[in-house]
Amino acid sequence: MAAPSKPTADPTDPDCIFCKIARGEIATRVVYETDLVIAFDDAHPQAPVHTLIIPKGHYAHLSDGMPDEVTTAVFSAVPVVARIKGVNQSGYRIIVNNGPDANQTVGHVHAHVLGGCPMTHGMIRFSEES
Ligand code: 5GP
Ligand code: ZN
Repeated sequence: MAAPSKPTADPTDPDCIFCKIARGEIATRVVYETDLVIAFDDAHPQAPVHTLIIPKGHYAHLSDGMPDEVTTAVFSAVPVVARIKGVNQSGYRIIVNNGPDANQTVGHVHAHVLGGCPMTHGMIRFSEES
């Protein structure tokens, strides 16, 4: 009988700040963790609750070959994090900045979970240059 295939090792980037957090090389307030994802509070919160959910593997963008199960794991973590942070009832906003036009500043997929206060309805502010 053939040996079971080994799961592919998560891709990692030695210079990526979020990979360092995922590997436990940078001290971070971990909110939630599974085999595939880790959630931690944003270093520069833009709301009373501002938590990031990242895949443990390095994928710069959503379209960089991130397996469906990893995408599912990231978004399945959203309501769990919302419950942990106490915003499940009051509501929260999910933002994924993906690529240059969205002003993604860290090249490792991440979902922002923002909440803890009422937000206006508008989601987008365009750059003044455009
Ligand atoms: P982006 O602009 O790429 O959507 O969001 C990147 C987020 O990562 C920003 O909100 C920024 O504050 C956060 N961030 C950047 N470096 C670190 C870090 O070393 N630790 C934590 N906890 N958050 C970080
Ligand atoms: Zn990374």
